[in-house]
Amino acid sequence: MAIVAAALAGTAGVAAEGWQAGAARVSIAPEEPVWMAGYAARTGPSEGVHGGLHARALVLGDARGRRLVVVTLDLIEIPASLRDRIAAMAADRHGLAPHELLVNVSHTHGGPMVSSRTIADWGIDPVWGRRAEAYVEWLVERIDDAIRQALAGRAPALLGFSASRCGFAMNRRLPTPEGMRLAPNPDGPVDHDVPVLRILAADGTLRAVLFGYACHATALGPTRTLHGDYPGIAMDQLERDHPGSVALFLAGCGGDQDPAPRRDEADALANGKALAAAVEAALEQAPLPLPARLEASQRPCALAFADLPPRAVLEARAASPDGFVARHARYVLDAWPAPGDRPPDYPLPVHVVQFGAALTLVALGGEPMADYALRLKRELATEGGAVWVAGYSNLVHAYVPTKRVLAEGGYEGTEAVIYQSLPGPFRDDCEERIVTAVRRDVEAARAAAAP
Ligand SMILES: [Zn+2]
Repeated sequence: MAIVAAALAGTAGVAAEGWQAGAARVSIAPEEPVWMAGYAARTGPSEGVHGGLHARALVLGDARGRRLVVVTLDLIEIPASLRDRIAAMAADRHGLAPHELLVNVSHTHGGPMVSSRTIADWGIDPVWGRRAEAYVEWLVERIDDAIRQALAGRAPALLGFSASRCGFAMNRRLPTPEGMRLAPNPDGPVDHDVPVLRILAADGTLRAVLFGYACHATALGPTRTLHGDYPGIAMDQLERDHPGSVALFLAGCGGDQDPAPRRDEADALANGKALAAAVEAALEQAPLPLPARLEASQRPCALAFADLPPRAVLEARAASPDGFVARHARYVLDAWPAPGDRPPDYPLPVHVVQFGAALTLVALGGEPMADYALRLKRELATEGGAVWVAGYSNLVHAYVPTKRVLAEGGYEGTEAVIYQSLPGPFRDDCEERIVTAVRRDVEAARAAAAP
């Protein structure tokens, strides 16, 4: 027994019982060519797959039979159309309510586009929009399969939390005399934490590991080969090193973070291996045992958009030679034609999962700036408990800037809105709205999870 328990250092620290857990991995690599997401510079469809794209599911059940299903996808985004289909499938076939299902994307820029709307807004041939719709239909069946396999494989488990650090994420908002540029900024904020949730079988072997990192999956540039970028490499490496386990990457608040360096496949490999090594370092630590008591909520936080520009400005933009600028201006003019028209608020999902008094997991929608994780971890800290802040969850097709980033301007949250089919930038109270919503939901979850 002692020999088996020593299979993973630190196992002895995990004493909490009463969990049931299962995990599974399925391929979601498109079986025919698709238009790839993430770079407007691509001029043709995908040409094969390198290293695979996967959906992974982790099912956790606590001592009272409460469930949490975490689904991670090697995709760039979760538009509302995809979110709704996954949620409907999970509710109809598995009885899962929104607070029981956390869907996170790695934000790989080497995956397929999953929205015919985005394909139209990018001015790409509609034939690829129809391909994307067909892919999404197939994808939802694959996700169903992953959840089904994870549920079927449920067995008694021990859960523990630990963390380490990894250094390749670099801030990418560089102040210049001409304004903010999208370029490496070694002096900007970063979140280098690597939070790690280990799921062990009763004999101490690693059955699944859920780990986070806050950085764009852009180590590889605009290749035409489908790939999972550094997160895919890290997950594959961990699964090879722990045979029989499933490794799931939960993307953090990396909206303003890029890998450094990020030139080619060698960099993606180095970054992926560095992240896998950081997860191993966390697994070497004695973990914080997680009691088998889950509380969760998922509620939208309403974010208002800033006032639309005057009609004359939009009409000038509609005549721009830049197709992205012109198409976006025409969309706004058509959708909100009268001077007093306002776009409806944006429903940013806030998912909170509380593991007894030991761990608070906050998963925000969209692409949050690293400052959200830094601020929330500071403000939500408790004596003896841990806080994990993820992004890219449940509804992902908007940057989530802070008040400072909105005031500074630049790509994230301002210039990027034309690539994300949004009416315009958010109003500058978005940070306070999000922090207020998170604090309210975390307080409620902690009160409910108290023994
Ligand atoms: Zn992004």
